[in-house]
Amino acid sequence: MELAKLNSIPKTSSLLFQLAGIVTVAIYVLYRISIEDYVLAGFFAVSMIPLALSMYLEWHNKANLAQKKLTLILICIAISYSCFTLGYKGLIYLFPTIFVIYFLFSLKEAAVLSLIYSVISLLLALNIEETFVVTRFSLAVVDCLIFGAIFSHVITKQKLALLYFANTDELTGVSNRKRLMGSLTHALQHHISKGIQSTILLLDLDHFKQVNDKYGHLTGDKVLRQVAQIIKSVAPNQAEVIRYGGEEFLIILTGLDTTEAADIAQQLIHNIAAMQLVEIEEPITCSIGINSLPAASIDHWLAECDKALYQAKLAGRNRAIIATQC
Ligand code: GH3
Ligand code: MG
Ligand code: MG
Repeated sequence: MELAKLNSIPKTSSLLFQLAGIVTVAIYVLYRISIEDYVLAGFFAVSMIPLALSMYLEWHNKANLAQKKLTLILICIAISYSCFTLGYKGLIYLFPTIFVIYFLFSLKEAAVLSLIYSVISLLLALNIEETFVVTRFSLAVVDCLIFGAIFSHVITKQKLALLYFANTDELTGVSNRKRLMGSLTHALQHHISKGIQSTILLLDLDHFKQVNDKYGHLTGDKVLRQVAQIIKSVAPNQAEVIRYGGEEFLIILTGLDTTEAADIAQQLIHNIAAMQLVEIEEPITCSIGINSLPAASIDHWLAECDKALYQAKLAGRNRAIIATQC
């Protein structure tokens, strides 16, 4: 799961929202025409164009966040102008638009943008409204800005927590399998489009069942947590560490070739064997399969790495084998 996915607004909701916007503006344009205020009618009719374009793009699945933000800014400009010419009748639209600003922009961007938008609109409303009317609106707008910021902050925190729990293995703290396909696809695409090398390591603890049988499952869990820490400390920062299965870890080494990955594999074997745990007498060993791109597909890339791991097990465990050597 990715943040972009969590942030995206469902297509139907987005279309309905924009439709509501177009209908509101259209009624308003008709009303202005009926009272022969052609300047404002024309102004709002023009502001419908980006909204209609935005709906068209949404309908054809081509909408993007930048275009939605631009549309919203144009609508805000139109509303600010209506505050100048209509006073409080324009000001009431500050509230729904501040809500949408917080929905589309990041917390900081939304706070700055909505503050500037509100101040300008309130000052423009002084053109035809009494100061006390604008002051009353100002107080309500301040409340709206504060609560908008609080809601946005809480929701952002919840989204990040949700992302963390959705993508993280509870026991070891490394990524879980949900990130597997996305990360491997990303690496494969970068290899095809930019020629960036990537290598995967498939690490499996040796005779781990015996560790559990001899020392208990809780001690086994402790070993898994410690192994995950060792992998994270040995692997470069940009590497992705995924708990692939029970006592198997997949390490995606973006930008590293077979030789560099083999060095890391040797370091992992060494550091895991040197791991100190008071409960365990004998060293914990592991076997590693190594496979670099190119690969015909992700399945192929993984399958060849799995074969290399199997060869390492067959050859006596506690070693790393490169896929092409099989
Ligand atoms: P090999 O060297 O062939 O890999 O032998 P192995 O014993 O490591 O492999 P096997 O697949 O037979 O056993 C894997 C063991 O890993 C069995 C299971 O109890 C243990 N295991 C899997 N997940 C967990 C876990 O979350 N915690 C603990 N403590 N053990 C786990
Ligand atoms: Mg296994
Ligand atoms: Mg094992």
